[in-house]
Amino acid sequence: MTASKADGSPVDEAAAASDLGRLNPAKLSALSPAKQALAERRLRARRANNGAVPWSDRDSGPEMSDAQQGMFLIDQTTGGTAYNVAQAFRMLGPLDTDALKRAVDEVVRRHEVLRSRFVIGPNDGARVEVLTSAEADFDTATVADVDTFVHSEVTRPFDLGAGSNFRIRLGRLGPDDHVLVMVTHHIVSDSVSKHIIAGELATLYADFRAGRPSSLPEPALQYYDYTRWQAKLLADSDQLDWWRATLQGAPEWTELPCDRPAPSAAGVGGAKHTHQLDSALVRRLDTYARGQRATPFMVLLAAYAGLLERYSGQGDVVIGSPTTGRHREELRSVVGLFINTLPLRVDTSGSPSFEQLVARTRASAIGAYRHQDVAFDRIVREVAPRRVAGRNPLFQTIMTVKSDRVTVPDFAELDVTAINYDGGWAKFDLALICYETPDGLAVLWQYSTDMFDESTIQRLAGQFERLLTLGLDNPTQPVDALGLATVDDLRYLSGLNEVTANPTGSLLHDLMAQQALRTPDAQAVGDETGWITYRELDERSNALAHHLVSLGVRPDSRVAICLNRSIALEVALVGVLKAGGAYVPLDPGYPADRLAYMLDDCDAVALLTATAVHTSVPSHPNTVLIDQVDLSTLPTSPPVTDVRSDNLAYVIYTSGSTGRPKGVLLEHRSVAVQLQWMQRTFALGPQDTVLQKTPFSFDVAGWELLWTPMSGARLFMARPDGHRDTSYLCDVISRQRVTVLNFVPSMLSAFTDHLDPDRCRTVRLVIACGEALSDAVKDRCLETLPRAELFNLYGPTEAAISVAYEQCLKERSVSLGRPIPTSTAYVFDQGGGQQPLGMPGELNLGGAQLARGYLGRPELTAEKFFDHDLGRLYRTGDRAVWGLDGRLQFLGRLDDQVKLRGFRIELGEVESVLVGHVGVSQACVVVA
Ligand code: AMP
Ligand code: MG
Repeated sequence: MTASKADGSPVDEAAAASDLGRLNPAKLSALSPAKQALAERRLRARRANNGAVPWSDRDSGPEMSDAQQGMFLIDQTTGGTAYNVAQAFRMLGPLDTDALKRAVDEVVRRHEVLRSRFVIGPNDGARVEVLTSAEADFDTATVADVDTFVHSEVTRPFDLGAGSNFRIRLGRLGPDDHVLVMVTHHIVSDSVSKHIIAGELATLYADFRAGRPSSLPEPALQYYDYTRWQAKLLADSDQLDWWRATLQGAPEWTELPCDRPAPSAAGVGGAKHTHQLDSALVRRLDTYARGQRATPFMVLLAAYAGLLERYSGQGDVVIGSPTTGRHREELRSVVGLFINTLPLRVDTSGSPSFEQLVARTRASAIGAYRHQDVAFDRIVREVAPRRVAGRNPLFQTIMTVKSDRVTVPDFAELDVTAINYDGGWAKFDLALICYETPDGLAVLWQYSTDMFDESTIQRLAGQFERLLTLGLDNPTQPVDALGLATVDDLRYLSGLNEVTANPTGSLLHDLMAQQALRTPDAQAVGDETGWITYRELDERSNALAHHLVSLGVRPDSRVAICLNRSIALEVALVGVLKAGGAYVPLDPGYPADRLAYMLDDCDAVALLTATAVHTSVPSHPNTVLIDQVDLSTLPTSPPVTDVRSDNLAYVIYTSGSTGRPKGVLLEHRSVAVQLQWMQRTFALGPQDTVLQKTPFSFDVAGWELLWTPMSGARLFMARPDGHRDTSYLCDVISRQRVTVLNFVPSMLSAFTDHLDPDRCRTVRLVIACGEALSDAVKDRCLETLPRAELFNLYGPTEAAISVAYEQCLKERSVSLGRPIPTSTAYVFDQGGGQQPLGMPGELNLGGAQLARGYLGRPELTAEKFFDHDLGRLYRTGDRAVWGLDGRLQFLGRLDDQVKLRGFRIELGEVESVLVGHVGVSQACVVVA
């Protein structure tokens, strides 16, 4: 790291870089008058910032700095010792205690800030007083154990009101063996101050021990000179305006890839992990930074911002960057609280390349350093972000570059070594501290143990290095396309995606016919009017199939069905399949123009409907009124067709972003493997009754309508509008001894809120699907239906019904679980590579259940279904992440598709409907 200076402060690095951005007069005159005025104002302000404001005369009393006010407030409200600034030394050799005591007194005399007393006056709020003479808080004791002694001194609180903010303790281990512990409160010091104090103490000790007077010059400035100067400077400059403008609309917080959410009370449990970057990488970092007119710190910060963006997808990341606050030469040897952590806001939106991200980071760092005279506490006051208990305002994570040089002061003839003391605190949720080492650069990750596991931090550290390396290798590639998954990640992910079941190539209606042969006299389908047996279902659907074949239905022909929930609906569906055709569900509740659109778009060979619904249905030349057609004259054996398992079984319309719903083409083989998996997993049998209540225009209704007749179980068709009426559902469940229910979570929520548990005792299986299931609804379901097992199933219409699943348990939160054995699920980055575990991305699906595509939309099909090294895949548009536990988590949508009670709605469709295009949105149906 070539650019870091003696104190390792990025401020120095920025000072060099900031010169690049100076305005020159030629450029100025090319600007519009308004911009000129602004530029001139900025220039004036900059001159003021550059030292035109004189250091104050000592004419008034001390004034607390903004940072001190912030620190005082923390001390008053939370107390504790997290802000004790400590250092400790082991000193071997003859120690002159008197000389040391005099040296300590002299240090306190030299720095009035160490004699400060912080008080709350009756009317005038918090205020600081400087005691004119104060004896240093110096004590000696005989001690047995170094660590215990240091720990007890460091963790002892200060009483700021009593003027106690600096103490020195000398522990005597033996005649020539001592431990010196120096502790100050952060309100009067910082880590630079700590070194100033130790250095002065050492010099004074040497002077006094040798019988000389102090060899130190009197300090030219005191901290309270600085605080008055700072107040004046801010009054004259544009720095506050700049911060207000820069942080306007900043995210409330930057999401961190943590294992657990931040605790509501400030957690202080912290731990550290060090990750080494080798010299070769650091050399490349240096070279690249130089080429970008940036500092290595800015490049590291860009990599960190990029990593956080990869996890959060927030498009806006704020990272704290501690600066020494001593960028003015005169302040370098002043003791006091100068350190200032500036919020660096980085625009990570729009898939920037690494190079762009470096440029953005550089601009935001330079801007911040130019306006660094404003203390963080003041920025917070000006910006007034919403405060959340336990969370640092404006940023939750920081990054800094430090020098790792440990300066040990020279105490005359004593042999002095520094004692490492780890307070174990985490002031921020996550802090990255980079420092040079002989072998390159070490990145110290300091993290809150409330939020992070060690393994997570190790993984993040590896990913940070990988992102940095890949970014330097491919600076013009989008950062969100850099492949961060390691070989181990990929091996593990492929284990989660093992395809173990081979599709058998069955036809849906064959599976039903086989069941009819096994249980011909068992009740198959019922509704409020009665029941038909498996034989009757088989024979009636065969007869209907003959009729449909006579109307011209062939493999891949579409037959629209517009019927209310009833036995006839089931006969119609099975009949279409047996005729070799594909059914297209048209929900009679949909608006007429939407029905007409779908009927036309699917190019149906026939329309199956009934007298009762016929009036609201668009006309079709081949309309079959199922209650009028005489099936008794037709054969009850199945027609012979040449339908194969790669022919269509159904076409289901889903909302389309262009304003027109699109028909998804599903083949028999895809649906068959899904239903066979359902059967292997949930084992429906004659003892089961499945309630048919899902509107049949949802693919999930296929579980009820298609799976049940393959299993020997009974299918009861709820009253057409019954699915929204909990008391009706409870009534049917108890009357029909229903064992299997299938719900969209929002409906499950309504159901479990009002159900009568006594009438639902027979329920053994509840399947939730179609939208995100919350833990609350899951828990409520498990409580109210204690005998039932609850499963969460996930799948889009484009991949037969469900492709991932998990049983929901009280003791774990909901996830999508794992892919089922005939499907694969991959989380991709923007480059089409797999994301590592824990990193969110777009969910892509593969396997035997994928749809053929969209009806009559080759371009859309090619966009959503594509060939990849991993096979043919479907892009879901869902945001998901493989959890570290090997469970898939659903995180929402990447586009503006929404779900309303399970209805999939592209907002684009709603918009185009509103501007009068073809098709009426499902949204209108649901909201109405
Ligand atoms: P659809 O095509 O109507 O089945 O809608 C599919 C979409 O519904 C998916 O892409 C998801 O956005 C959402 N979805 C389906 N099942 C689930 C589930 N179990 N959890 C969360 N979202 C789901
Ligand atoms: Mg679905």
